[in-house]
Amino acid sequence: MAELKQFNTPGRDPNWCPGCGDYGIWNAFKRALVTINIEPKDIVIATGIGCGSKINHWVNTYGFHGLHGRLIPIAQGIKLTNTDLTVIAVGGDGDGYSEGGNHFLNGVRKNINMTYFIQNNQIYGLTKGQTSPTSDEETKTKSTPEGNHDSPIHGLSTAIINGATFVARGFAGDMNHLIKLMGLAIQHKGFAFVEILQPCVTFNKVNTYDWYKQRVYYLQKEKHNSKDKIAAIGRGMEWGDKIPLGILYQEEKTLYENLHSEIKENPLVKQDILNIDISSIFEDYM
Ligand code: SF4
Repeated sequence: MAELKQFNTPGRDPNWCPGCGDYGIWNAFKRALVTINIEPKDIVIATGIGCGSKINHWVNTYGFHGLHGRLIPIAQGIKLTNTDLTVIAVGGDGDGYSEGGNHFLNGVRKNINMTYFIQNNQIYGLTKGQTSPTSDEETKTKSTPEGNHDSPIHGLSTAIINGATFVARGFAGDMNHLIKLMGLAIQHKGFAFVEILQPCVTFNKVNTYDWYKQRVYYLQKEKHNSKDKIAAIGRGMEWGDKIPLGILYQEEKTLYENLHSEIKENPLVKQDILNIDISSIFEDYM
């Protein structure tokens, strides 16, 4: 049975600002891993660039800290090479929806058995407070002193429309709900995407814990049907006065890795790829 202390990193503590929502995500993440009983040696966390992307420095598993927005192809490569691993990508809203926007759009189309957690604080925190792809319209930041004139991205609806098979939203201010949600996402067979509302207490003075608490509601109390794709897309568009938390959409679908004969039976890492005769391939190009 996995224990919480296995995931701790003694002597190395997070250096996020006091009160940052990343602490809630970090705590919930480790507890979710314990709840679903996975050993640290079987987990790889792939991250991008941002405050929250430093999470794999402080969870005792394998990790790959990638370039800005490139966490999905890194995670995909790891998973397709060794399908026995539990692969989890974690990064922020700027990293995932902007720098990594193309990877996000195309990553959700492949039903690779992996999990992607986006920490959404509606601002670029690490670079000290510029507008992000999820900043609300008219928000004033250092980069938009007259107010943000861009429409915010609806990541959950985008993920559902483009093929993600598990789509949900959590909140760093509700630990018990988040632990359960993260555990369910990791256990889902397919591409699981969870957006986690995560206040940036230093640079976003609008979307605070209280701001979110006054608006969030729980889908399981609304009799939401998570198999209804159109209803789920609609829930994903909700923002402002009412913000849904919970599982918006879930379906079963054949895994990408099971559709490819090269890795269907045996992961690449267990194959003797050094002794495969590829001379016939070269001959085709001669
Ligand atoms: Fe958290 Fe914002 Fe501080 Fe970054 S700048 S650690 S997101 S509070």
